[in-house]
Amino acid sequence: MERIHNFSAGPAVLPKEVLEQASDELMNWRSCGMSVMEMSHRGKEFTSILEAAEADLRDLMAIPANYKVLFLQGGATLQFAQVPLNLMAGRSADYLVTGDWSKKAHKEAQRYGAVRLVASTEASGFSRFPAVAEMDLDPAAAYLHVCTNETIRGVETFDEAALPNGVPLVADMSSHILSRPMDVSRYGLIYAGAQKNIGPAGVCLVIVREDLLGQASVHTPTLLDYAIQAENGSMLNTPPTFAIYMAGLVFKWLLRQGGLAAMARVNAEKARLLYDRIDAGSFFHNPVEPANRSRMNVPFTLADPALDETFIAEAKARGIVQIKGHKSVGGMRASIYNAMPLEGVQALAEFMADFEKKHG
Ligand SMILES: *Cc1c(COP(=O)(O)O)cnc(C)c1O
Repeated sequence: MERIHNFSAGPAVLPKEVLEQASDELMNWRSCGMSVMEMSHRGKEFTSILEAAEADLRDLMAIPANYKVLFLQGGATLQFAQVPLNLMAGRSADYLVTGDWSKKAHKEAQRYGAVRLVASTEASGFSRFPAVAEMDLDPAAAYLHVCTNETIRGVETFDEAALPNGVPLVADMSSHILSRPMDVSRYGLIYAGAQKNIGPAGVCLVIVREDLLGQASVHTPTLLDYAIQAENGSMLNTPPTFAIYMAGLVFKWLLRQGGLAAMARVNAEKARLLYDRIDAGSFFHNPVEPANRSRMNVPFTLADPALDETFIAEAKARGIVQIKGHKSVGGMRASIYNAMPLEGVQALAEFMADFEKKHG
């Protein structure tokens, strides 16, 4: 069957080779006579799957030895609560608001303690990532929370060196983790829901520096205590075994592609193709400052919103789907995660050119 060009923001496209491998192994994983879905999470088969996934992720991201890797549940949204529960330790926490997701994280954290807003770009329409000089930082904060790629507005920060230095940085990387090399040591904690750039929905990755563990609030549910999860190898209770297995296949696929440096090159090329098309005239528009334009999520509007439905329908006829923008911003959004091949982006850019010729 022909695969469609799927630009969904999440759950999103997965590599074809990974789906084929999962399909081949579905009934009988490595001649063990059962599916990964049917295995005990404590058995040697699944233990080997989990260990390989962690080892491959450490390899891909060059995760330093003093960081724990956790495979949790509840999505990135639960991290909005789990981070303050574990890291606030009776102090205040700093939040930077650069889009819809960091705004949600900031709001949720207020349930657990004192929270300071260091800066917000909401008044200017969430169209850029602010400079450190614009942030009202508290040197005594327990941590500073940022979202390094805002999935809805398509705002990404690329300059890790320009992020604030000082209190531990906590980053929501849900929609661009693994899209390029990141310096893990710049962060105290990184989290990412899987269904954008890692695998299927159901598992959430947390990478946390060891010295930040062990200070959870007394009200923290045992299951949500990072330190206890770390001690138990993410197996305090039954983990989302099949989602972890799929994430592991994606990690192996990324290694075969040449790792994150290779992905970064392809992703930069894919993004350039789309932004060039958007900038080629006045028919399409993207409001984000060029330096912060996301290479994963590309929102754009048509000069005439009355053409939106026609655009979506004609796109579908060309095998291009899930490009409708988030309801809060309207227009279109093309999510071009790792698993979106260059040909998919070329097909979209060609369609956009043809559509403009026909309707512009
Ligand atoms: C999708 C997303 C979330 C929410 O993820 P869930 O897994 O649905 O909880 C949070 N932050 C960012 C940046 C996202 O893209």
